[in-house]
Amino acid sequence: MTDRAPCDFIIDNVSLADGGRYRSVRVGDGTIIAIGDLAAEPAVLRLDAQGALLLPGLTDAHVHLDKAMILDRCPLCEGTLAEAVRLTAKAKIGFTADDVAARARKVLEMAVRSGTQRMRSFVEVDPRAGLRSLEGLLGLKKEWAGLIDLQLCAFAQEGITNEPETLLLLDEALVMGADLVGGCPYTDPDPVAHVQAIFDLATRRDVDVDFHADFDLDAENSILPEIIRQTIAHGWQGRVTVGHATKFAAFDPQRREAIARDMASAGVALVVLPATDAFLNGNRDNPLRPRGLAPAKSIRDLGVTVALATNNVQNPFTPYGDASLIRMAGLYANLDQLATEADLMKVYSMVTVDAERVTGMPAPDLSAGGRADFILVAAENAVEAIRRNAPVVAAVKSGVLRLWQPLSPLNLGS
Ligand SMILES: [Zn+2]
Repeated sequence: MTDRAPCDFIIDNVSLADGGRYRSVRVGDGTIIAIGDLAAEPAVLRLDAQGALLLPGLTDAHVHLDKAMILDRCPLCEGTLAEAVRLTAKAKIGFTADDVAARARKVLEMAVRSGTQRMRSFVEVDPRAGLRSLEGLLGLKKEWAGLIDLQLCAFAQEGITNEPETLLLLDEALVMGADLVGGCPYTDPDPVAHVQAIFDLATRRDVDVDFHADFDLDAENSILPEIIRQTIAHGWQGRVTVGHATKFAAFDPQRREAIARDMASAGVALVVLPATDAFLNGNRDNPLRPRGLAPAKSIRDLGVTVALATNNVQNPFTPYGDASLIRMAGLYANLDQLATEADLMKVYSMVTVDAERVTGMPAPDLSAGGRADFILVAAENAVEAIRRNAPVVAAVKSGVLRLWQPLSPLNLGS
């Protein structure tokens, strides 16, 4: 057995989400062997969780690893979407596979330390980036397989009808190993043709689709009805996701409900990106400073599968970020002014089961016999973890202890 192989160990004093007294968790051969009173059982390694809460590893349904951590090469002035697209388009001409991998590693390290164990990353494929970013992330997917399940979405950020070569590159990316395809109709001169081109490719290659859509606060000209229509026309129900959809914040209640119900019945999921949506939709001339955020909880209540995700980390689209989903859940709850336990449990679902439904990357069942993919959080329950941005103190992936950083008591001595 090498030090990377799954080994047998027991973690004592673990809190379970259903409450009750502390239990022990035995892990071996990549699975949870037992949960209960294991005080009398021998083990090669025995650890004390000090009451930390057992949760499934979290799922980040929307991240841009390829263009993360580039603030040092992008002089920000306006903080607008147009500036972000312009600066990033310029920067990515200089991206190499090694450069992308080096920056993405920093994000993955922060994500794993923050409890993320599954992630969908977009990777831009176009005449400027070529396939270099994809090459870098395909290598990383293998390199980090023991710590995080990485899904890659070949993505046209800057249009298709204006750059037909991008469509050929997207196809090549799927052949190389990208898992799904993504489009961005709002940057294309012909948004409807853009959506059509993405669906044509997705149905030909039998892959899921993820669009960046409706990224402004104008209640008119939503592309969502067209995406819903084409989802049904192509028989792609349950295989389509839209990110942002911030027009939801501008729709009147009747329109919001009508579109949400159409999304739900067409199986179109939504991912809200609180950090980016609130930053780039800010109208600095408006003293009320709109938050520019789709009301994820209300849309989820109408039957849509809704996840919260990181999106960008320290680049012109979002000049902040630590890839922590617990922090992102708290940011969203704060911005959407949610307070009750019931609502915060829905927020928790948006970074766990709902995010897993979006990505099709199921989390394990945290019971005896289930795959040992879990984290320990220094909180009494998931709601408390979100309310106070509780730290992740341990991560176990495929039965291997990957992170162990228990909180040490404060030194109260003089
Ligand atoms: Zn995005």
